[in-house]
Amino acid sequence: AKATQSPPLPEPSPLGGVKVTNPERIIDKSTGLRKIDLLRYYALVGDLMLPHLKGRPVSLVRAPEGVDGQMFFQKHMDKPTITGVRLLSPELDPDHEPLMEVAAAQGLVSAAQMNVMEFHTWNGVKTLIGKPDRMTFDLDPGKGVEWPAMQEAAMVVRAFLEELELPSFAKTSGGKGLHVVVPLKRRHDWDTVKDFSQAIVQHLAKTFPRRFSAKSGPRNRVGKIFIDYLRNGFGATTVCAWSARARPGMGVSVPVTWDEIPQLKSSAQWHVRNIHERLDVGNAPWESYEDEARTLTRAMRILGFNS
Ligand code: ATP
Ligand code: MN
Ligand code: MN
Repeated sequence: AKATQSPPLPEPSPLGGVKVTNPERIIDKSTGLRKIDLLRYYALVGDLMLPHLKGRPVSLVRAPEGVDGQMFFQKHMDKPTITGVRLLSPELDPDHEPLMEVAAAQGLVSAAQMNVMEFHTWNGVKTLIGKPDRMTFDLDPGKGVEWPAMQEAAMVVRAFLEELELPSFAKTSGGKGLHVVVPLKRRHDWDTVKDFSQAIVQHLAKTFPRRFSAKSGPRNRVGKIFIDYLRNGFGATTVCAWSARARPGMGVSVPVTWDEIPQLKSSAQWHVRNIHERLDVGNAPWESYEDEARTLTRAMRILGFNS
């Protein structure tokens, strides 16, 4: 009887107690999305996004004037000013202010309150920062490349990686291209992984010269897809799964299965306004991601790569 007299627990606030300033401010004119919509978005996807952020240095893209305004890419932070965003040990990246980690779902909402729109992560985790735990291929369409060519290209990259006995996982970027990720056991250093990723891309570009380019710069990729291996260096980042994009339409980077790639309509198929349609699928497309991690030793032997 006593228990029934205790006051009811307060309803959990949908924004985790984060106070929002200027909630009605339009941040994307093309859709009319407001700042409050982005905060609600991050409150909604926080639990799905957190596993992709755990232990990883994160860079923040701030867009105080919305998707059409100037952006600030922040890799370091001198003082902990965002609740839920923690500073990492300065030893991880000496000669700089500390790196950051989003350590709690609230950090996403607090950061969004401070005009952060995108979250980008390293390919390594803080417990062994010298040895990356994944290899990322960022497929970027050159001028004139249509979406179906992008879908085919991703399937080709996947098939080639399979030939090297490397399982890979795909995600939309929320923009124009696609991201292909290979989970790694933490055996090799950054330069080894980057050099090998370059060898893979050069091999693909040599074998399919009409389709792929291994060289950056718009002139090198007219009508072709540039496979950017430079995401694999120390300190390089790629947009995190479930991050919104600071671009008109506010696409979202979403994990997908390989079976879905041929059916996708664009890399911005999911965005802040329709993401609820994807929440029940969540991270299931990457369910076996951790179990599939392996070293590059065998793949290097198959490709004839000498590190
Ligand atoms: P799309 O599919 O449209 O190519 P994307 O996220 O792959 O989307 P890219 O332009 O290919 O976009 O990639 C930009 C990369 O550069 C991102 O991985 C990001 O982490 C990194 N980046 C972006 N801005 C900066 C910056 N100012 N300084 C350092 N790195 C940046
Ligand atoms: Mn890209
Ligand atoms: Mn790129």
